[in-house]
Amino acid sequence: MFDSQRCTACGTELSGSLLACPVCHTLVHRDRLSAIAAEADAEATRGDKARAALLWREALTLLPEHSKQHDAVARRVEELTLASGAQSKDASRWKTGGIGALIIGALTKGKLLIAGLLKLPTLISMLAFAGVYWSIWGWQFAIAIVIAIYIHEIGHVAALRARGLPASAPMFIPGVGAFVRLQGPVSTPREDSYIGLSGPIWGLGASLAALALFYFTHNAFWVALASTNAVINMFNLMPVWQLDGSRGIRSLSIRQRWLLLAVIAVTGVMSRQPMLVLVGLVALWRAFEKNAPRLEDWPAFARYSVLVIALAAISIMPVPISGR
Ligand SMILES: [Zn+2]
Ligand SMILES: [Zn+2]
Repeated sequence: MFDSQRCTACGTELSGSLLACPVCHTLVHRDRLSAIAAEADAEATRGDKARAALLWREALTLLPEHSKQHDAVARRVEELTLASGAQSKDASRWKTGGIGALIIGALTKGKLLIAGLLKLPTLISMLAFAGVYWSIWGWQFAIAIVIAIYIHEIGHVAALRARGLPASAPMFIPGVGAFVRLQGPVSTPREDSYIGLSGPIWGLGASLAALALFYFTHNAFWVALASTNAVINMFNLMPVWQLDGSRGIRSLSIRQRWLLLAVIAVTGVMSRQPMLVLVGLVALWRAFEKNAPRLEDWPAFARYSVLVIALAAISIMPVPISGR
């Protein structure tokens, strides 16, 4: 519908998807943007930070990503969202109701979970090592893996809730795991990274819990679970497609992407975990991305690095199968 649009400043003809004039860099939606800015400021002054954040999110879609204006508006969105999240009822219910309420909430939308369970053999058979453990421990192992994947998904939901963003119930995809859809308003690169990496962080927590159970029970089942789950979470760290790593890397600058690559390379050499070759190759490709942010996101870099190192370490733990 913007087919025949011309730049208001220099008259250059603009094709449909452009957000800024290629000749004079004037913003295409300049008028709409200043209207949104005025409205958002008025809402913020009135005290409705949630509404102001929503308006700024709309502005994000009209700004070229990684332009100075986009960076500034993204920061505004994050500030307002956190401030409004602290006020809102939803956030307080989440804090008092805790994880239990969230799990029950997710299970009530259990159709998807059941559909996922029925397809679990497909998931398991795709992972040869898991197939071996399946043959040793049978359905108990399968159930435990599903629970671990579910914990990963709840990590995403918790991150969305903490940011005051709506989330769907976790959905299982055979062979890949599961995903939580982000619905509604667009998210900023930093939010996206935080939400994306929260799944693997909770997944790492599930592996650590399994290792703690091994420590107390000396049952090799728990080591097998911890390492299988670590490999699944590492697969999700590949920064490509809709995988978590793709969102995780979004807020990293080029310099940070090269540093991350170094972390992956050193961890790969030390652990000899073949999955890190895949993660590293895709990360190398993302280190050449033209649209990477200029602002640096060190908390995201730290999260990504810790995940690579910790998941690799757990994934190569020897499983004492003969003990059973
Ligand atoms: Zn122009
Ligand atoms: Zn995930």
